[in-house]
Amino acid sequence: MSTSSIRLFVTAPLAEGVNAPGSEAQAHYLANVMRRAVGDTVLLFNGADGEWAAQLTELTRKKVTFAPHQQTRPQAPEPDAWLCFALLKRTKTDMVVEKATELGVSRIQPVITMRTQADHVNLDRLRAIAIEAAEQCERLAVPEIMPPMQLPALMAQWPAGRSLFIADERRTARLLRFSSAASALLVGPEGGFTDAELAGIGAHPQVTRVSLGAQILRAETAAIAGLALMLATDPPQE
Ligand code: SAH
Repeated sequence: MSTSSIRLFVTAPLAEGVNAPGSEAQAHYLANVMRRAVGDTVLLFNGADGEWAAQLTELTRKKVTFAPHQQTRPQAPEPDAWLCFALLKRTKTDMVVEKATELGVSRIQPVITMRTQADHVNLDRLRAIAIEAAEQCERLAVPEIMPPMQLPALMAQWPAGRSLFIADERRTARLLRFSSAASALLVGPEGGFTDAELAGIGAHPQVTRVSLGAQILRAETAAIAGLALMLATDPPQE
């Protein structure tokens, strides 16, 4: 691996001549796992200032300092798309968070529905998974991970300008298609939404029921396949 292919997310501002501290975990990773040394170069991003090549100016097992010297990519606008999904068991939730980050969502909202089997998340863990996925897929931003919300509360405070596409496995809706507007996909739990839930959500003016194809998908597959449909577009021309 070349020295520049390590990409790390930092919370500090990134600008030329301004030292940026890394975390203790990053110091450990760079020093002990990747065996980097002072003077080596890595790539940094923080969700706001684009991507920067930076030199390690200080590296111990617990502390790392970066000196950004050149912007390698400007911060580019990303799709304004959320994933709302009925909370799954831990391994599947982890996978959905990782894949949704790779596919480009800006927010991940776990939802509690009538038939949802799980109610607890470790937000720090999910945020770490999203950061790692963004580092690996060369995204310049990390999606926001929200605490779980009950479905009725989510609907009651749904923002006025955002379309909500409900993944409905009954074969009556049209296929979900690319949307460039502010949007969100809502995927139900393993047992599906109840009729009462579907009626309640369907009454909402911004809601459209959509299909994800002929097969009945597992909930985690539906989240990933649905985002692929909703976000499928040509890459920006650089
Ligand atoms: N009703 C079924 C399956 C639920 S599938 C049951 O009783 O077991 C879990 C979730 O995935 C659904 O709530 C729906 O949001 C989504 N989903 C699965 N397959 C789908 C499809 N072909 N089109 C749209 N959504 C789908």
